[in-house]
Amino acid sequence: MTATHVPGLPVIEDGWLISTNPATGEEAGRVPISDEKAVVAAVERAKAAAVWWQGLGFEGRKVRLLRWRTLLVERIEELAELAHREAGKPVTDGIIEVTAAVEHLDWAAKHAKRVLGPRKVRTRLLLAEHAGHLEYQPFGVVGVIGPWNYPIVTPVGPISGALAAGNTVVLKPSEYTPVVGQWLADTFAEVVPEHPVLQAVHGLGDVGGALCRSGVGKIAFTGSTATGKKVMAACAENLVPVVIEAGGKDALIVDADADVDAAAEAAVWGAMTNAGQTCIGIERVYAVAPVYDRFVDAVVEKAGKLRTGTEIGPITMPKQLDIIRDHIEDALAQGGRAVLGGASAVQAPYVSPTVLVDVPETSSEIREETFGPTLTITKVRDADEAVAKANDTAYGLGGAVFGKRNAIRIARRLRSGMVAVNGTLAFVGMGNLPFGGVGESGFGRIHGEDGLREFARAKAITVRRAKSLLPAMTFERTPAQVNQIVKALRLLYGRKP
Ligand code: NDP
Repeated sequence: MTATHVPGLPVIEDGWLISTNPATGEEAGRVPISDEKAVVAAVERAKAAAVWWQGLGFEGRKVRLLRWRTLLVERIEELAELAHREAGKPVTDGIIEVTAAVEHLDWAAKHAKRVLGPRKVRTRLLLAEHAGHLEYQPFGVVGVIGPWNYPIVTPVGPISGALAAGNTVVLKPSEYTPVVGQWLADTFAEVVPEHPVLQAVHGLGDVGGALCRSGVGKIAFTGSTATGKKVMAACAENLVPVVIEAGGKDALIVDADADVDAAAEAAVWGAMTNAGQTCIGIERVYAVAPVYDRFVDAVVEKAGKLRTGTEIGPITMPKQLDIIRDHIEDALAQGGRAVLGGASAVQAPYVSPTVLVDVPETSSEIREETFGPTLTITKVRDADEAVAKANDTAYGLGGAVFGKRNAIRIARRLRSGMVAVNGTLAFVGMGNLPFGGVGESGFGRIHGEDGLREFARAKAITVRRAKSLLPAMTFERTPAQVNQIVKALRLLYGRKP
């Protein structure tokens, strides 16, 4: 097939959204564009389907979700190949991405009942005549809006939590990766053919906006901070709750007692995997003075072996190439040095690995999300300076620490939702750990117990089981009973701690 389009740029033609291979410009596939009416219709279908899906209960949903998990495993190569064609990522990276998606699906399916199921809570003495019950009820329909950089795991994370909690889902994938999104909905329909429990709607940003205003019970958004704010504003119109998974500028700290070679290997992978287009990608390193030189040498040696077109895929979104080039040029103009790559590393549609040192903290390469295979390494006096610099950002998504004696203490001090110690990005692969950021990286959590609760409302129920001894909540209480209540209160809670 010949290249007929600008590589990576989606094309709209006769009501179809055509996505193109970012390396070659070949068509990667096409999906029909949904207008506002179609989005509302999908949500209405999802509302009807939610009644059936909720009725299946935790066990019924678990079986079906695990069937989908197994389908993903059986067809892992097909899905990874599709992500390669549409997003440009190496097939092996696609395989790893599906692996993480399978982990989240499996965990959510198996643990939803324990985390969200009805339970009794312990009686409190002041209302001893009432039993307390707690359960977590689904919202109904959850809208999932996803990005292009990890078109499989980023939607599957919230989809797993939302479906396991008893919601149905309408997914709006990125305009750059709609075919992967449609593949997810189509394969789910193969294992759950009865009702449209997971649907996809397609188009540009306005379709995401329409989903926010369509009557969904909650929106799970993953994408840039700027779009996250627009999504919140659209959801605010109807007080629709949101979870926002936004960008990051994650830092890795290398302490004096770190295994320097392991730190360099993890830094290179954390920064360059998926061509650096990773929300939790390592973009900055702060290495303490005693290990700095060795660390820089090891990173340059390892990153220098990576080749564009093999380990480093193309930049998926063509306009990102200018941002990456601007950041590198700004770093160099402000006094930074390229010890690998540099401004000439940007050769559309690829960017070769670039390692920058002595970059001032004011540079856009340090302050803004670069989303390319670039890494800054900054020498710091000690771990305190490293933590202060790592935290001096509006973002707060993930992070990493290499070291022995103080590594966990340093990890706790990082202002972020997740930190990997002696590894990078590891937390995204554990189904039982929550995932999400602070500050401009967003709020709310997907994955793990918190991620399941994100897609349900806590519901409190009290059941009277005896007559009140101290009737407080009635107009029929007497002054003597009120005195008894005060006495009981003093007895129970009146003593100084
Ligand atoms: P965008 O914010 O550009 O888009 C994200 C999604 O929002 C897309 O589906 C997009 O549709 C849609 N959208 C755009 N405008 C609106 C709107 N006004 N209302 C509703 N939806 C809208 O992000 P990218 O796709 O470029 O993804 C990259 C970003 O995602 C990076 O900042 C990265 O850090 C972040 N990210 C965060 C993750 C996390 O878990 N914290 C994980 C992965 C990525 P369309 O594509 O059609 O414009």
